[in-house]
Amino acid sequence: MAVEFHLGERLTLRKPHPCGGVEWRVERLGADVGIRCLTCGHYLLTPRRKLERATKSHQPPLSVELSC
Ligand SMILES: [Zn+2]
Repeated sequence: MAVEFHLGERLTLRKPHPCGGVEWRVERLGADVGIRCLTCGHYLLTPRRKLERATKSHQPPLSVELSC
């Protein structure tokens, strides 16, 4: 099943980064997707298909969070 990625979206990956973080933010879209580790700030360019397999869950950007 294809996974759609969107700019600014936060991803939770199955495998933690060496820094211990599992949350990433999408910063570049294309055949390769650029993601940034939210824990250490590391930027990574990875093939879309590989990222699809590594993604456990993804959430829209924080801006759509409810405030009431
Ligand atoms: Zn990291």
